[in-house]
Amino acid sequence: ESVKNLDETVPSPHRNQNRLTETPSAGTDSFANTPDTDPSTSENREWGRLALSRSIYTQLGAETVRSNKLLGPANLETLIQETCAAAQAWQARGSDVRAWILHEAASALGARRGDLISVMAAEAGKTIAEGDVEVSEAIDFANYYAESARRLDVVDGAEFQPDRLTVVTPPWNFPVAIPAGSVLAALAVGSGVIIKAAPQTPRSAAVMVEALWQAGVPRDVLRYVTIDEGPLSKALISHSDVDRVILTGAWETANLFRSWRPELPLLAETSGKNAIIVTPSADLDLAVADVVKSAFGHAGQKCSAASLVILVGSVGHSERFRRQLVDAASSLRVGFPTDPEVAMGPIIEPPLGKLAEGLTTLGRGETWLLAPNQQGSDPRVWTPGIRDGVRPGSTFHGTEYFGPILGVMHAKSLAQAIEWQNATDYGLTAGIHSLDADEVNTWIDEVQAGNLYVNRGTTGAIVQRQPFGGWKRSSVGTTAKAGGPNYLTHLGSWKSRPLRS
Ligand code: GLU
Repeated sequence: ESVKNLDETVPSPHRNQNRLTETPSAGTDSFANTPDTDPSTSENREWGRLALSRSIYTQLGAETVRSNKLLGPANLETLIQETCAAAQAWQARGSDVRAWILHEAASALGARRGDLISVMAAEAGKTIAEGDVEVSEAIDFANYYAESARRLDVVDGAEFQPDRLTVVTPPWNFPVAIPAGSVLAALAVGSGVIIKAAPQTPRSAAVMVEALWQAGVPRDVLRYVTIDEGPLSKALISHSDVDRVILTGAWETANLFRSWRPELPLLAETSGKNAIIVTPSADLDLAVADVVKSAFGHAGQKCSAASLVILVGSVGHSERFRRQLVDAASSLRVGFPTDPEVAMGPIIEPPLGKLAEGLTTLGRGETWLLAPNQQGSDPRVWTPGIRDGVRPGSTFHGTEYFGPILGVMHAKSLAQAIEWQNATDYGLTAGIHSLDADEVNTWIDEVQAGNLYVNRGTTGAIVQRQPFGGWKRSSVGTTAKAGGPNYLTHLGSWKSRPLRS
């Protein structure tokens, strides 16, 4: 009982409560990104520390998780039929009413910012800043999709028929923003939604869903479940009443889903193997900072993370660049985010398989510039690793590790660097650091990736301003961008209206 009392909502930070979190009046087209919490004020830092200290004991979301465990095939069938039935009424309410509720959801998410940060720190090891940007992104998805859906009903004589039932299978690495984005998109168009929470981060998704329910999204339209991986997941994904599955996860998972149901309508954001090129014209100080942030933010556990830095010509011979890179990476304090000074949290579970290999085994010709080490007794806490001399075509060049390891490659020319940057199975994010406009323009023309970043890091896509989605094996079933103009058009079918004779 005492835990429950302590577990009251973490109050909102002292922030500019501004027009961005108010409900825009019906019919307006206005959208603006919501600001993150300003860490420069002492009140906000105090607020962040409170959110982190609560992460140790918080039970937020636990009741939703416990009471929505899906137990067997009979429950599954009932769940699917009830959600389909409820979706009809949701669709009939029309896009204006749904938009109004989604704007309310944006406010409700903002009101629970502290709770969401606490629970993300507890489950995913996210720092305050990492959790804070996720809440902002979730709010942006709500406001943005609310407005996009209003424009969807009839486009150029074709009528939009939304999916009736969408299943959302989110990942654990963005345990609030990604499930929120997928769920809100489907709700905006009028679909019913079953969200199957990631097993590693069920409470983060639960608190997000609670905020949506609180804002007026009907509980029978948005269903939250936890489910054991295995036959029940397969039964859910394969069910013929499921009109679409929105997956964010590994490319292999998309294939697994397709093996269960070959004709499955799937909208999937999948893996990445992303590189930043640094040319001799670059501002090297800036390049070092951006590479380190992109490689080691959330311990490298982002599809968008930079896993390679490709140094062109003289940059590769520069002792200064390498030393700065190593100094910057080794200065990151690692540990659990309950310590507000920690800059790099733990990895989600003790390293296994590919990641264990990446953290320990060098390929031919490679050397450690900075060898990664387990720190202390917890096998999830690792210091960052940087390997030099990664060769094109090597295992490291082609493998996504999803952890705190960066590889350095040395290219003779920009052309060679671009060739190596493109020579992976994936095409999610790509970066260049160069102050030469010709170099940058050449690169923009030739690089094969969905999200391009010039003179900044490769993570942190922004709703509407720089929506997110990749090429090649980084997406399945779509090239539409999450948080971008065409995303909602994929969540249903189009009927051309008959011509009048
Ligand atoms: N949207 C996130 C970013 O731009 C990455 C999402 C992911 O890792 O799946 O950093």
